[in-house]
Amino acid sequence: MRRALIIGAGIAGPAAAMALQKAGTESVVYEAHPTSAEGIGTFLTLATNGVDALRTLGAEKPAIAAGFPTTAIVVWSGTGKRLGAAKVSTTLDDGTTGHTLKRADLYRAIHEQAASRGIRIEHGKRLVAAEVVDGGVRACFADGSDASGDILIGCDGIHSTVRRLIDPNAPAPTYAGLINLGGFVRGVRVEADPGTYHMIFGKRAFFGYAVAPDDEVWWFANVPQPDEPARGSLASISTDEWRRRLMGLFADDAGPAARLVEATTHELPASPFHTLPHLPTWHTDRIIVIGDAAHAPSPSSGQGASLSIEDAVQLGMCLRDLPDTERAFAAFEGVRRPRVERIIKQAARINSNKAATGAARVLRDLMAPLFFKLMTNSKQARQMYAYHIDWGTSA
Ligand SMILES: Cc1cc2nc3c(=O)[nH]c(=O)nc-3n(C[C@H](O)[C@H](O)[C@H](O)COP(=O)(O)OP(=O)(O)OC[C@H]3O[C@@H](n4cnc5c(N)ncnc54)[C@H](O)[C@@H]3O)c2cc1C
Repeated sequence: MRRALIIGAGIAGPAAAMALQKAGTESVVYEAHPTSAEGIGTFLTLATNGVDALRTLGAEKPAIAAGFPTTAIVVWSGTGKRLGAAKVSTTLDDGTTGHTLKRADLYRAIHEQAASRGIRIEHGKRLVAAEVVDGGVRACFADGSDASGDILIGCDGIHSTVRRLIDPNAPAPTYAGLINLGGFVRGVRVEADPGTYHMIFGKRAFFGYAVAPDDEVWWFANVPQPDEPARGSLASISTDEWRRRLMGLFADDAGPAARLVEATTHELPASPFHTLPHLPTWHTDRIIVIGDAAHAPSPSSGQGASLSIEDAVQLGMCLRDLPDTERAFAAFEGVRRPRVERIIKQAARINSNKAATGAARVLRDLMAPLFFKLMTNSKQARQMYAYHIDWGTSA
């Protein structure tokens, strides 16, 4: 039986371990953080295609239970003009749609599913090097320990180490010109239908919110910043300072943005938007990257987590059906690359709209109805959300 070393226990890692187990390959997951990812990040959408991929692994129920259905967005200008609306989900046979959930809850749900199947996740194991030895691969960790297996799967996210081990000249992630912040607020009344995101192209920054079934308002802000902040520098900006900046940015906009920011009392984590639109080399004969390590769409796509889970399922099928590892990896790339790179391109267009200022903003507002007409019921949207990987076919 093949033995896999999986690096990274975010979303792709534990999902890959479950898919490989289903395909008859045993694995251990090695995660750099000393504990699980509880409390990290704000919230995200698990789109219908992500739910469907998790369902193939029989692992979707806890994730769905931790979130709430979100199927539409309504978009507003900063002056309070309704620019358009779009459906952002398809519906599975049993009525399940895309869901929004706290990032930490998605991590926890997937981890618990992996643990319940006897998959081992070792924390405090930061991969620093890997070498091919005797027809296998040896992973070396920062704590001085190592581990050996037949293949190594890099699920170590946007700032992947495995990517550089595969190709030292691999491109670095691209900064998308936006800083993301978000929060959760109780006791502030806002106009919003259940299951609908409201998004505001404000005069100076972009704002989005949805109301959870318990009336908590979940919000995020995307702040244009042309120059990439130095790694770690955002952490030195205090929550009070961010609150003051955000309230200034949204002060002249219609809608509840400034009120929601003011009422948010917890720490405001800020992170730059990075994307990885095209990684030329995804694998060697024994090492491969999947998830954000291979292809990261901007968070605007609402697809990063879902594509990572799809990757996990597809890789499991390829390894099940193709005994030669290199052929399995090549088949995986052949199926996955066109899909993920198309979605990344679509998301990049959304980002350039969010970062628009001045004349570009006026043009964007004029074009918005056409944009939504194209998005709603479009072939593109169906290709994104109605994607299904049939475990019963051969890879
Ligand atoms: C602000 C924000 C909002 C987002 N919103 C959405 C959304 O709405 N919908 C959506 O689908 N996606 C969204 N995403 C993207 C989504 O979070 C990612 O696409 C998804 O988490 C990718 O999963 P992954 O497993 O590839 O990487 P990650 O979840 O980043 O996991 C990588 C793991 O690898 C570990 N690691 C890193 N280096 C090493 C190492 N050297 N050794 C061992 N372990 C290592 C990390 O600690 C981490 O646990 C958002 C992302 C951000 C930042």
